[in-house]
Amino acid sequence: MALPAAHPSQFFDEGIKLISYCPLCQSSCSPRETHVLGERDDSHLLHIRCGGCSNAILALVLVSSAGVSSVGLVTDLDHEEVERFRVAPSVSTDDVIEMHCLLEQEETLFSRLGVA
Ligand SMILES: [Zn+2]
Repeated sequence: MALPAAHPSQFFDEGIKLISYCPLCQSSCSPRETHVLGERDDSHLLHIRCGGCSNAILALVLVSSAGVSSVGLVTDLDHEEVERFRVAPSVSTDDVIEMHCLLEQEETLFSRLGVA
């Protein structure tokens, strides 16, 4: 498991216990790999790869005086891809329309992909 060495252990103990149950394979075994992708105040964004099925979840863990809670999202992205998409520009409406038009023009699509 790839944990940062200087991370507060109390948060990790409670946070990891809360999200160590894999929603895909129902495994309760330890995560194979965990990366902290971001932290702000008492919120922590984690990428956790399951030790049982190797699928990954993105988890937002909130630590407050009322306790620890988390929200998870199954993802096929690895932690480096999540980092890349976090800083990438958003997909605009124009991007979607351009892609739609491109998909309607098969020859143009293949020539732009360099396979025609
Ligand atoms: Zn799993």
